[in-house]
Amino acid sequence: MTDKLVDLFIKVADEIIANKEYLTKLDSDIGDGDHGINMARGFSAVKEELANSEFNDQSQVLKKISMTLISNVGGASGPLYGTAFLKASQVIDDLSLTNLIEVGEAVVTGIQKRGKAELEDKTMLDTIIPIVDYLKENQEAGNNLEEALGGVVEVAEEGMKSTIPLVAKKGRASYLGDRSKGHQDPGATSSFLIIKTIVEELED
Ligand code: ADP
Ligand code: MG
Repeated sequence: MTDKLVDLFIKVADEIIANKEYLTKLDSDIGDGDHGINMARGFSAVKEELANSEFNDQSQVLKKISMTLISNVGGASGPLYGTAFLKASQVIDDLSLTNLIEVGEAVVTGIQKRGKAELEDKTMLDTIIPIVDYLKENQEAGNNLEEALGGVVEVAEEGMKSTIPLVAKKGRASYLGDRSKGHQDPGATSSFLIIKTIVEELED
């Protein structure tokens, strides 16, 4: 389980690094153009740490990612993603549907405690919150993990795209007011890339 998680996050890191220019372009439109650079720097460091550390359990893997992102990403997103991984490290267990919901809820609570954003504020939470809701709906409907995971990437993509018409209420993009409309949020996009890769690897 632990080795699998290390491999999974090396794939996540590769995906972020491969999308450095794309994320930077999105952040140039409504921010300061550093999101791709920040995230690629952070996840390059994550790759390095994952390859050169020994882990006793999954929690340690996520904690290492958290610390590495906090010290290497910077910007608004560094502490937010750092918090997300720290909170996930505290509840990760058997990666059942129930556990994934717990992880998702911990991530959302952590990001909200730090950044005070709500749904539709045009942030990474517009990608993440709908996924947690979707997983819960699946559980209530009696679906199994495989069935639930099958729809996650689509929900994440819809969440990411839902940021396009929104006015930013948090972070640098909020300085633009109405002019932030018509642009996809960079953090919602990096969250989509991370989640897409996690789901692909979990389904594997
Ligand atoms: P900065 O805005 O400091 O340059 P980044 O460019 O790395 O930092 O990250 C910007 C992204 O961070 C935004 O696209 C948004 O998704 C996310 N973000 C900013 N503020 C918040 C917040 N308060 N809560 C959640 N996400 C936020
Ligand atoms: Mg930025």
